[in-house]
Amino acid sequence: MRPWFLLIFLTLSAHANVILLDPGHGGEETGAVGKLDKSRRVFEKDLCLRLAGKIKHHLEKTHTVFLTRSFDRAVSLQERADIADKVKADLFISVHFNSSTDLKAHGFETYYLDNNHDAAVRKVEKQENISLKGEDLVVNQILIDLTIQQTVQASRALALAVHGQLKGHMKPVGITNRGVKKGLFYVLALSKRPGLLLEAGFVSNMKELKTIQQEEFMERYALGVANGIRDYLKKKKGP
Ligand SMILES: [Zn+2]
Repeated sequence: MRPWFLLIFLTLSAHANVILLDPGHGGEETGAVGKLDKSRRVFEKDLCLRLAGKIKHHLEKTHTVFLTRSFDRAVSLQERADIADKVKADLFISVHFNSSTDLKAHGFETYYLDNNHDAAVRKVEKQENISLKGEDLVVNQILIDLTIQQTVQASRALALAVHGQLKGHMKPVGITNRGVKKGLFYVLALSKRPGLLLEAGFVSNMKELKTIQQEEFMERYALGVANGIRDYLKKKKGP
């Protein structure tokens, strides 16, 4: 490698942002289970992995991107946070799909870490904070409050940028906008960095499940997230 080339390479890598994508659930923890018909079931964990892989594909053209899991395996919430430390992630993006006992519930929502006492949000938190090892019971409230204090401004700006892009990308596939929301997600609290938890659509809604399985939805959603992250980073860096 010529010296000038090395210098450019070092300069670029010094400024490169590291993004950690976190496909929800895995292994015996399936996440939400959707039904296409009586015999065909779809697991949230599989959809999360597929979608995170597509986001990675779009982002790695311009950024360093890692996954907390690249195949179907159980990963604890603490392990996901430890990976964020190991790869020195600047942003932590957790990828999920929603589910509800109201089978008509539909749409996508974007969460960032903050306290929320809304009952509907509490239900989503409960679903996503489930951990096989039960770490959710030992997450320290003082540490959560401190992390919120340190990250909420950046995470909110990131959420608005990503959700803004998603609104445009989801319209043609008919997934409705449920808004940007605050939520107490332990995986975000444990990662201690600016981040999001994406709820990309409802697997409990049979019509929506058919759409979110399609390649067109996956591609559009992934591109929306990648563009939104780029918008946020550009704005943060300034002109
Ligand atoms: Zn989930």
